[in-house]
Amino acid sequence: MPNPWLRELRRVLLWLLLAAVVGLIAGHPLSAILLVLAVYFAWHLRSMYRLHRWLAHGHSFHPPEASGIWGEVLDQLYRRQVRHRQRKRRLSALIKRFQAATEAMPDATVILDKFGAIEWFNAAAEQQLGLQAGRDLGQRLINLIRQPEFREFLEVASPPEPLRMVAPADPGMTLSVRVVPYGLNQRLLIARDITEQLRVETMRRDFVANVSHELRTPLTVVNGFLETLNDDEEADYPPHLARSLELMQNQTLRMQHLVEDLLLLSRLENDRKAPPHECVSVSAMLAMIEEAVTPLVEQKHQQLSIAAEPGLCLYGAEKELYSVFSNLITNAVRYTQDGGRIEVRWYHDEKGSHFDVQDNGPGIAPHHMPRLTERFYRVDSGRSRDVGGTGLGLAIVKHVLSRHQGQLRISSTLNMGSRFMCDFPNDQTELPPSS
Ligand code: ADP
Repeated sequence: MPNPWLRELRRVLLWLLLAAVVGLIAGHPLSAILLVLAVYFAWHLRSMYRLHRWLAHGHSFHPPEASGIWGEVLDQLYRRQVRHRQRKRRLSALIKRFQAATEAMPDATVILDKFGAIEWFNAAAEQQLGLQAGRDLGQRLINLIRQPEFREFLEVASPPEPLRMVAPADPGMTLSVRVVPYGLNQRLLIARDITEQLRVETMRRDFVANVSHELRTPLTVVNGFLETLNDDEEADYPPHLARSLELMQNQTLRMQHLVEDLLLLSRLENDRKAPPHECVSVSAMLAMIEEAVTPLVEQKHQQLSIAAEPGLCLYGAEKELYSVFSNLITNAVRYTQDGGRIEVRWYHDEKGSHFDVQDNGPGIAPHHMPRLTERFYRVDSGRSRDVGGTGLGLAIVKHVLSRHQGQLRISSTLNMGSRFMCDFPNDQTELPPSS
């Protein structure tokens, strides 16, 4: 197909030529040419007028009929309009499918604009959050759900952790609420019903706590008898029986430690109360721990140095904090080879206070690091059992720290050593009077 502009140019030139010839014959060539140009200009004006009228007020999908270059332009416009209409149809079918899917989702979903006003929500949001389509669209969500922790949660643009809250429409339902940035300055709120999950979690926790509790008494009795038998200096047991009794007592003690750790963990998990706001002297606590681990340190010919800032106190539950510091120091002593070195420091800087245990022991391979604080996760199960570990120490440490706004940082290099650091914020610490 020839270029329409060339065709148009040819047509104009032909008309001008014709006008010049006719004008020459009539003796007015210039007037004839001007007349053709005027007609041509009028034709353009008329076509422009019709196009404008169609664009501004046209009810017809088809553009007005036109010839020449205008026919070409209007034809292009028409084709573009057809493509646009097809795309729009596909898009609206897609949106309908997306809305139907979101509508069918069991999780409550709400779209909020940049002011926190509701733009859209699904059926689950009506059931769980108590929203009503006719009444609540355009309202700010925090004006409809008036729980203070929810208000605080929504004030953060993109909260890192989900919020657990009672469903506004059903006091027997617990929701886990997340907010994610979405579209242009919008946010998507998703609430999931976790009532059943919590029930199962509580059952599991109660079961572990009850079993541990039930095991405690028989273990104490068995251990008591074994201790009496082992300590009986007059008894003359054959060597294999004496060895068996010693092994039985070791294993019973191990089981007792395990039960105690399980009970402590379930107490920590169930305790929703904040720890007491008592000032715990960490240096005094470290002195006690040092005394407790000294026999093992001496037996392993290790060097243990503890440098604690005197008078630097930590707010919290003394027993819980003791288990944190004791677990970390005991681990360092247990896992570090004979003749190794362990350095413990307790100090503060502008960021807060820090408890730091560093050893030159076997270290931990990087792939174990993310799972170290899981219950019963051990790098080497045989070694952990040999040194009397329960596999629960670091899980306890993590729980206690999170109750005290502390954070555990672990760094380690295989065959070089490990470092366990607990960081506490300034408002969890009381500085010595002189500083
Ligand atoms: P366990 O009772 O087995 O010591 P923990 O939860 O205290 O359980 O520790 C988990 C695992 O982390 C241990 O089994 C051990 O393999 C590893 N670990 C902990 N502390 C150290 C350390 N200082 N050096 C090397 N490995 C360590």
